[in-house]
Amino acid sequence: MERIFTNSDVDHSALRGAIIAVVGYGSQGRAHARNLRDSGYDVVVGARAGGKAERQAKADGFSVVPVAEAAQQADLVALLTPDMTHREVYASEIEPNLRKGAALLVAHGFSVIYEQIVPRGDIDVVLVAPKGPGDLVRREYEIGRGVPSLFAVHQDATGTARAKALAYCAGNGGTTAGAIETSFREETETDLFGEQAVLCGGATELVASGFKTLVDAGYKPEVAYFECLHELKLIVDLMYEGGFAKMLHFVSETAKYGDFVSGPRVINDETRARMKEVLTDIQNGNFARQWVAENEAGKPEYERMWKEDLEQPIEKVGARLRTHMAWLQSQPQSEAA
Ligand code: NDP
Ligand code: MG
Ligand code: MG
Repeated sequence: MERIFTNSDVDHSALRGAIIAVVGYGSQGRAHARNLRDSGYDVVVGARAGGKAERQAKADGFSVVPVAEAAQQADLVALLTPDMTHREVYASEIEPNLRKGAALLVAHGFSVIYEQIVPRGDIDVVLVAPKGPGDLVRREYEIGRGVPSLFAVHQDATGTARAKALAYCAGNGGTTAGAIETSFREETETDLFGEQAVLCGGATELVASGFKTLVDAGYKPEVAYFECLHELKLIVDLMYEGGFAKMLHFVSETAKYGDFVSGPRVINDETRARMKEVLTDIQNGNFARQWVAENEAGKPEYERMWKEDLEQPIEKVGARLRTHMAWLQSQPQSEAA
């Protein structure tokens, strides 16, 4: 069984008295910055002038300076801007200003694994990835708990990179919940595969295909929506809380039998062969090259496919039905993945 690191495994001396620069003040950045400050660290926020990040971080009481200046001051820079900005932000503002022996931290290994960042040899490069969106990372910290996290070392210039990663993870609540050591490659490839094959890509296609099958067969779109999308939350919540065991315990006998005989007819060897292809494209860098090129072209295909997704019939039906679900009307928008 994989070792789970908890607070008693943390050597705080690696970051004692450290100045931590949080660059990027979005979902993860805002949560990390506030958690680390409450854990006693000296946190400075690096942001570009005039953006939402600058405004929000100031309102939260942080000292906010340009990214280059934050990097100059820092013992550790947490680069928490979108992955596709890392190349530019790192090369132009962070690397030229980072002290020898300082650390660069990311929350996802994409930019390092796919060489958008090629770090200078005299700095530590580590990863701390909470397995949850920023609002949960902050909320759990505030009530004295935390979100399970992954940590990893890519480059250890000082001999203390791993201790720094664990200390940061602890300051963010990660070791209160439990942290698991991984590598940049494992974190990056599994994260991409999970969101592509299962969480975002797989789940939406499964839902949309089920909906289309019913509607094409003449059933009402409203009824199909409830069966294929709406009720998915109940099933996922049960799996989240207690695995397949809890889900199978709560659904009917008929649902269970249908699951056993029909699940493998829908997701089969052919599907798994496609999953393997998706994984191969992640491992050999094809997906990353394609995504980086798409960004360089101004994301035309990304925008087109996004628009196409929102124009599907299931989206129209869903929007109307959800206006009748009073409990959804006052919900905060959460961010993830
Ligand atoms: P967000 O999109 O929520 O935050 C973006 C932030 O970056 C904003 O504060 C924005 O500032 C700032 N920013 C964007 N471009 C620049 C730039 N060129 N220079 C300076 N600041 C910039 O990011 P996330 O929190 O979603 O993601 C951050 C990292 O965390 C990524 O590596 C991601 O993969 C990882 N991650 C995210 C998770 C999540 O739940 N979202 C979970 C685990 C890891 P401004 O307001 O000025 O535009
Ligand atoms: Mg099944
Ligand atoms: Mg991801």
